[in-house]
Amino acid sequence: MSYATTAAAVCAPPQPVVPSAAAPRRPRERGRERDRGSWLRFSPAQPLFRARAAQRLAVLAYHGITDPRSFGAQLDRLRRLATPVSVRDVERSLAEGRPLPPRSVLVTFDDPDRTVLRHALPELVARRIPAAAFVIAELVGTEKPFWWHEAGFLAQHGGRARLLPRGADPDRMLALLKAMPDPDRRRSLAELRVSAHRRAPAREQLRPEDLRVLRDADVTVGNHTLGHPSLRRCDEATVHAEIAGAHRVLTRWLGEAPSAFAYPDGGYDERADAVLRRLGYRLGFLSDHRLGPRLPEHPLRISRLQVDSTTSTRRFDTILSGLEPAVRRLLGAQG
Ligand SMILES: [Zn+2]
Repeated sequence: MSYATTAAAVCAPPQPVVPSAAAPRRPRERGRERDRGSWLRFSPAQPLFRARAAQRLAVLAYHGITDPRSFGAQLDRLRRLATPVSVRDVERSLAEGRPLPPRSVLVTFDDPDRTVLRHALPELVARRIPAAAFVIAELVGTEKPFWWHEAGFLAQHGGRARLLPRGADPDRMLALLKAMPDPDRRRSLAELRVSAHRRAPAREQLRPEDLRVLRDADVTVGNHTLGHPSLRRCDEATVHAEIAGAHRVLTRWLGEAPSAFAYPDGGYDERADAVLRRLGYRLGFLSDHRLGPRLPEHPLRISRLQVDSTTSTRRFDTILSGLEPAVRRLLGAQG
């Protein structure tokens, strides 16, 4: 079942876990999971981090929304403690060379499916909080599952691929697929599809008209490539095709060219940067679990914090302050 829990992992580099997080992700422990590391909220360092974070830009990276109530509580927290800003605000601050207001927070979604439209949008609109959604263009208007979910499902239903060891657990298999040169990943997926005895379940993806609904409700729609490969595993022609292809269809659906991009897997790539510049992109977002300056130094490399709609508000506070990310980095450096 854990392939179903790796939705966020595909957009983000692996992170060391905060101590009480060592628990495996069994359903009965979900409560503990959503609250893990929340003890940091009582750390004497939290007020210091919170004061420092007030002078930084926090960009939150969500995926699909599985807990609308908890998401609403997080947005209430932002309304009370932060200054929600839009992609346009960030672009304007860059154009004018003027930092964003203290406590600025930008809400973003990667790989948005229909849960973002159904659950996140009403909560955002009710609180007048702008956001951005980075879509996988190839999935829009389809019922295709995300490739990482599909691969996990197929492997559990008899799927085999020459480059994947038999019986590998889904997380390990996903790590292997992501580490492969992209042509090998595509070939392995094709082999899994023909050898599995069941097809992966469909997924309700956004439709082209949904993108305009989001846009009209102050959710900027951005580019997240055509098919969500790890760009660093692609050759130059594929990097170009993935970004420019998505740019073309998004421009057609939206009636205007997108100006913001999020790197699949959250990892920066210089060749992608060059393509983005040529296409006129103004903002690019990473998934490095960091806060950034209120006037971004590198507009195509803006840091983001990884959050989830199920994250408890106590833990949410420590992520927003930068304390939880700092502890994670410390543990990662030691581990
Ligand atoms: Zn993604």
